[in-house]
Amino acid sequence: MSTEIIEQPSNFPLMLSPLNLGFTTLRNRVIMGSMHTGLEEEKNGFDKLAVFYAERARGGVGLIVTGGIAPNFRGRISPHGSQLSFSWQTNKHKKVTDAVHKEGAKICLQILHTGRYAYHPFNVSASAIKAPINPFKPRQMSERQIKKTIKDFANTCELAQKSGYDGVEIMGSEGYLINQFICQRTNQRQDKWGGDYENRIRIALEIVKASRNKVGPNFIIIFRLSMLDLVEQGSTWDEVVELAKALEKAGVSILNTGIGWHEARIPTIATSVPRAAFSWVTAKMKKEVNIPLITTNRINTPEVAEDILSRGDADMVSMARPMLADPEFVNKAAKNQSDRINICIACNQACLDHVFKQKRASCLVNPRACYETELNFEQTTNIKKLAVIGGGMAGIAFAIYAQQRGHHVTLYEAKSQLGGQFNLAKNVPGKEEFVESLKYFTGELARQNINVHLNAPQSVESLKQENFDDVILATGVTPRVPKIDGIEHSSVVNYQQVLSGEVIMGQRVAVLGAGGIGYDICEFLTEKGQSHTENLDLWLKEWGIDTEIVHRGGVEGVDQVKPESARQIYMLQRKEQRFGKSLQPTTGWIHRAALKKRAVEMIGGVSYHKIDDDGLHIILDNKSQLLSVDNIVVCTGQESKNTLQQGLLDLNVSVHVIGGADFAGELDAKRAIRQAAELAARI
Ligand code: NAP
Ligand code: SF4
Repeated sequence: MSTEIIEQPSNFPLMLSPLNLGFTTLRNRVIMGSMHTGLEEEKNGFDKLAVFYAERARGGVGLIVTGGIAPNFRGRISPHGSQLSFSWQTNKHKKVTDAVHKEGAKICLQILHTGRYAYHPFNVSASAIKAPINPFKPRQMSERQIKKTIKDFANTCELAQKSGYDGVEIMGSEGYLINQFICQRTNQRQDKWGGDYENRIRIALEIVKASRNKVGPNFIIIFRLSMLDLVEQGSTWDEVVELAKALEKAGVSILNTGIGWHEARIPTIATSVPRAAFSWVTAKMKKEVNIPLITTNRINTPEVAEDILSRGDADMVSMARPMLADPEFVNKAAKNQSDRINICIACNQACLDHVFKQKRASCLVNPRACYETELNFEQTTNIKKLAVIGGGMAGIAFAIYAQQRGHHVTLYEAKSQLGGQFNLAKNVPGKEEFVESLKYFTGELARQNINVHLNAPQSVESLKQENFDDVILATGVTPRVPKIDGIEHSSVVNYQQVLSGEVIMGQRVAVLGAGGIGYDICEFLTEKGQSHTENLDLWLKEWGIDTEIVHRGGVEGVDQVKPESARQIYMLQRKEQRFGKSLQPTTGWIHRAALKKRAVEMIGGVSYHKIDDDGLHIILDNKSQLLSVDNIVVCTGQESKNTLQQGLLDLNVSVHVIGGADFAGELDAKRAIRQAAELAARI
């Protein structure tokens, strides 16, 4: 009897179809977009980068664009930032290009001159205008410097070709140097590089022409064009189209979509941004040029990518963070196993927030990202019987990684549901993506046949009886109850009760504590109707984005539509400091802006006097005040929940404590999952 193999039709035929550029063909439409990892500057970092990119290439991506590499010293992001200007530097790049080519993908080097965003005192720009996000004021470039910089771009392009890259991406968006020349906001020159639009775009076109001259026709030149600046005095749509057409003529092979300057006060990639929120911008450009277009921003599943391509919005889709989260993204999609993809939840916590703090990037949901040579789950020769107590993210992650190594893992969860704090986070408006991690991680438990017991609280005795080799305590945290007179009053609830929907809240609410969870609670309680993350129209209006891009930058003079608030909220903290200081660097400002729009009243420097039937009594500036509220939500941090450790140690059981149970301060899933993975790799 013969076995016939029937191939399933692909769910993603467009995403997986090749793209013929004439002189070369990309194997599919998926680009791993440029992202700085921090490995670029580390000792032996290129050896690690080669393994990092090779893993993504093996995972099926068609084309990789590297993190930004400067064409000269002044263009570096920081004094020690990466630069490619000399022949001797090509050897380390060859390690990367060889590794990627072995896996069948192509790779382009991104050439990035940061201009006034360079975080050092040697920075330069079109004009000497300081960026609002950088303490270093740039010097205005002389004509000689401009001409030299154009040559430097072309030189880096040629060195990229010599290093084995298939092409380059010239970074012309996000408010970096080229963008700074293009827009009046940052270009107030009166010479042939400033003034009218033709002069302001001269540098972009000269860089492309000089680069093309150096490398000949059979080399990919992508230009990342700022199609929507999202800042005042940015370009109008007509101007963007004029430049796109001129770039096409100057020899660009592919145009990539740039959205928003780094200093823009509109979120473009955070988790609260709707999926594919900006593909309409690329779609507008489709009508104007004949070269292929790449679209970007908040594309994180193959379904979203295929939708974009089937609407004809773009020819290719770029995903950077999703490739950190799951290097096998494309291969899984090709096998119609998109439900097995570890989806990027756009939290920025381990990637961009790290880069911002000059730390190596990684991924909250995949701690191996950028640690491919250091964190591996090798088969063990010493198979152990392991118990994991607690089915939050730390416990689940440990169970998966340890079982992967060949250990026999049993996971016990006291509640009826796995996922711990993520079950609460997913209910916060703008954090809907967190449900994807729950699906993936619990799915992995099932796929790996891990023994999971729900509604199964454990005791020292029950664990002792089972004779486990090691017990891993991942019992999480419990909300801290502050010592306030009347804290047991019926109007007082904690954040877990609110986010789980188990309490009905009144119209006037005081939120105690202004950490990440205080902010989440305020967003939850003020949201009226549908979450804007799930309604692109409402979201665009809320942030004042003009979809016709008649207004400069798509925002100049456009009013933001304030969302109606469902409740009157007071948010309180005892500290005198600015609210939201403990929030993450790349997203804190978004949360602050969201609460401002929803008219949350922030009161700092308070002390809590008492709670009674009248409400919350506080002392502010040495005076007593009453906030007559219906409810008081306690968001005053957490304490570790760890009642088993001592008893187990007394019985000589080998115990490991991970996640919030180990350390409740600054509890976060990133630390919990990494700690779980590191323990699983060595146990
Ligand atoms: P947190 O950041 O430690 O904030 C606790 C808040 O409670 C502070 O505002 C603190 O301000 C107040 N507080 C602390 N002890 C108190 C006491 N004994 N009495 C009264 N007030 C007290 O804790 P969290 O908000 O629970 O967040 C925990 C972690 O979760 C964060 O560090 C973060 O990693 C993660 N998280 C982040 C986000 C986000 O960034 N969007 C969202 C959710 C969770 P005062 O001492 O000034 O009163
Ligand atoms: Fe995505 Fe968060 Fe991972 Fe960054 S850390 S890649 S945003 S899931």
